[in-house]
Amino acid sequence: MSGETIFSKIIRGDIPTEFVYEDELCVCIADINPQAPVHLLVIPRKPIPRLVDASPEDKELLGHLMIKAGDIARAAGCGDAFRLIVNNGEQAGQTVFHLHLHILGNKAYTEAGL
Ligand code: AMP
Repeated sequence: MSGETIFSKIIRGDIPTEFVYEDELCVCIADINPQAPVHLLVIPRKPIPRLVDASPEDKELLGHLMIKAGDIARAAGCGDAFRLIVNNGEQAGQTVFHLHLHILGNKAYTEAGL
């Protein structure tokens, strides 16, 4: 669980990847293996391996990720119909040990106004 992951490389620009959104604290990219019509990842620039590795000093950063995830989901056309998921630990399905929020939205569903 070192700080060096594929997400660190993407954030540094070593692996060219389009940022759907970026600011001084986080970036957002499209998931390479989407599980929903909208599947985005909000990734803090700080390489915290798992949610449980965050410390009280990360409180503001974690809040920032949540607020931005909501903004990004709406900007991506999800309306109010989206889910945020954090997989914590290998047994919960975490594969990249750099904290990230999955935004999952069914764009077609929300666009249909159902
Ligand atoms: P998790 O299983 O919660 O650790 O999620 C890791 C996610 O990263 C998976 O949904 C992968 O599809 C996604 N992923 C892995 N490599 C890349 C990449 N190079 N670009 C975009 N998404 C990626």
